[in-house]
Formats: sequence, C-alpha cells, structure tokens
Amino acid sequence: MIQTNFPLTNYNTFRLPAVAERYLALTDLQQLTDPAFQRAPALVLGGGSNLLLLEQVPGLTVHVQLGGVAPVAAGAFPAPGRRPAAGWHRLPPVVVRVGAGVDWNQFVRFTLDRGWYGLENLTLIPGTVGAAPVQNIGAYGAEVAERIEAVHVWEYGVGPRTLLPDDCEFGYRDSRFKSEPGRFLITAVDLRLNGDHTLKTSYGAIQTELDRLNVQQPTPETVALAVTNIRRSKLPDWFFLGNSGSFFKNPVVPLAVYEKLRATYPELPAYPVDAAQVKLPAGWLIDRAGLKGVRHGAVGAYQRQALVMVNYGGASGREVLAFSEHVQAVVHEQFGITLEREVRLLGKTA
Ligand SMILES: Cc1cc2nc3c(=O)[nH]c(=O)nc-3n(C[C@H](O)[C@H](O)[C@H](O)COP(=O)(O)OP(=O)(O)OC[C@H]3O[C@@H](n4cnc5c(N)ncnc54)[C@H](O)[C@@H]3O)c2cc1C
Repeated sequence: MIQTNFPLTNYNTFRLPAVAERYLALTDLQQLTDPAFQRAPALVLGGGSNLLLLEQVPGLTVHVQLGGVAPVAAGAFPAPGRRPAAGWHRLPPVVVRVGAGVDWNQFVRFTLDRGWYGLENLTLIPGTVGAAPVQNIGAYGAEVAERIEAVHVWEYGVGPRTLLPDDCEFGYRDSRFKSEPGRFLITAVDLRLNGDHTLKTSYGAIQTELDRLNVQQPTPETVALAVTNIRRSKLPDWFFLGNSGSFFKNPVVPLAVYEKLRATYPELPAYPVDAAQVKLPAGWLIDRAGLKGVRHGAVGAYQRQALVMVNYGGASGREVLAFSEHVQAVVHEQFGITLEREVRLLGKTA
C-alpha cells in the first residue's frame, strides 16, 4: 500500500529529517508487476546508509524489503556452528542467492557462523545486500564485486533480468547501478563464498590487530574480529551519532600530481591504482587541511576519522551539505584536489 508524506528520519543513518511524498514497502516480487514499476521511482531505498537526504523527497520512494537466503545449487545449508572437519581453507565454493532487503552484516555473520570465507573483510558495513553492488562496497582490501556471480534486477519498462559481473561495470565504489540510477531495481544477488583460500590481512591495520590478539594462524572469523575491532575504534556508531560512513571518495590522481604534492607534503600516503595513477586518502587531506574534529553547529568532521561527516543531533540535510561544501572548498584551496561525494544527495528543501 502506498503511503503519503512518509517520514524517513528513522530510515537514514544520518538521521536527517526528510519526508517521502509517496512510500511503498516492497516485500514481494509480485508487487513489481504493478504498472507503477514501468517507471523508475524517485528513490530506491535500502538501509539509507549512503544517502544525504534533503527535507522533501518528491515522487515515489520504494523501500526494498525482499528477504530470502538460499543455495543456488540444490542442497541445504549447514547449521550455524557446524565447522567443516577438513578446515576452512578446503571448503568447496558455494553460491548463495540473497534477497536485496537482507541486512548485509547479518548475511556476513550467516556465512562466518558456518565457517565460510570471502566476506570477512566486509564485516560491519551497514545497509542491505541489494545496495552492495550499487557502489561495489569495499573495505580493508576487499570489494563485493570479487564475490558476485550474478545480480538479479527489475529493469523498468522491461521486466526481470539477470546481469553477470561483466554487465555490471564494477569499479572503485562504482557500478552501472550507480551511473544509471533510473534503470534497475536489484531484487537479489548471487554471492560466491569459499573455494580459493586466500585471507587478506595485509591491508590497513589488520595484521597489527591480529598480532595484538595473538592470532598466529588467522581464520575468516579472526580476520572479521580484527576488522570489527579496527572499525569500532575509528568509526562512530550511526545509531548514536548520525553519519553515512565515508562521505567522500578517495581521489584518484595522476602520478605527476602526486609527485608535485609530495614535494610539499613528503608524508602524503598514496596507493597505486595503475602505472599512471594513485589513490590518495581523502581523510588525510581533510585532516591536513585542519578540519578534523571541526564542527559547524550540529554538523562536523568526526574527530577520529575526518572522512566521516557527523550529525551531532538536529542537523538538516541542507546543513550537512553546506558543511561538506566547505570541506571541499578548503581541501581544494590547499591541495588543488576536488573531493567527490560518495553519498548520494537526494530531495529538495521545503
Ligand atoms: C558507519 C558507516 C560505515 C560505512 N562503511 C562503508 C565501507 O566500509 N565501505 C563501503 O563501501 N561503504 C560503507 N558505508 C556506506 C554504506 O553502508 C554502503 O554504501 C551500503 O551498501 C549502503 O546500503 P544501503 O542499503 O543503506 O543503501 P541506501 O543508502 O539505502 O542506498 C544507497 C544507493 O543504493 C541504491 N539502492 C539501494 N538499494 C537498491 C536496490 N535494491 N536496487 C537498486 N538500487 C538500490 C539507492 O537508490 C542509493 O542510490 C558505510 C556507511 C556507514 C553509515
């Protein structure tokens, strides 16, 4: 049933006050055959953890709540806690179809509880499984695209389709779902777990945290624990302090730009992208521009991770936008680099 003037304040992790002109909870694939789905809604909403909402969201908001976790090949899942006798690294691959409305972190727990591996570095990311391919979620050296077998979509005006990874144009925090926002609604994702026994422990502080935990032989579970500890020490819990995680993308710049900056800032970190480009940490740039912990009214750059803009309580989307534009201007002034928003801006002010 479509509801009107539906409040979205509790449906976005920034806790910004916003109202959907019309709102529909999508709980059943059958609903997609309604003539309303011939055209793209204004907003396809998952967990609202990558959005910057202004006061009013005109048109229809479709809140994806499609559930279900099932093996793609015939068979049943092992019960949680049943660890494979042969050891985690001998597990054969398994492909799982997960409904778009399933909570991402709960699904990661589902896999870890069975001793499976592949998603351990992506633990504790808020949001839904259906939104994971949209910006190709990534953390600690892993990206969801590495595990995607297929993305099931509803293409407006066309109907159901299955896209293979090559059709999805995955890139750094990017995909065609992001670049063509009015085209697809993701209904389910097939994810491949196990099968290639590699654990990624070299990124960020994972190895240091494993050492601190006295873990000599890492497992998926202990890597997930290390990532959890690191994330909890750096990122604010959105339940208590509204935010949308990394507000900006890490800028990718030509090598020559990096070399020029390094002459002034020898300690500037950089991660190679290819022979001609490097990725710079946006958080470092914001910090070095003197904005870490800076607050304008109810909005600020978080004191433990400058890349996270936070709502200290009562901020509007317009205020978050204004503060983020201030951050962009200061960083551009100091480094000549334009920070690009990672979060999606939506709606209009009253
Ligand atoms: C504290 C915190 C930490 C975070 N850490 C990370 C991180 O480490 N790595 C990372 O990559 N991201 C991170 N994020 C960002 C966010 O969690 C992810 O982008 C997540 O995938 C968004 O999921 P969501 O369901 O909340 O999507 P929403 O915010 O609801 O939507 C995001 C975009 O996806 C579209 N969308 C949502 N569902 C569908 C669907 N079913 N079909 C089509 N389009 C859809 C929306 O229209 C919108 O454009 C973090 C956010 C927070 C608050």
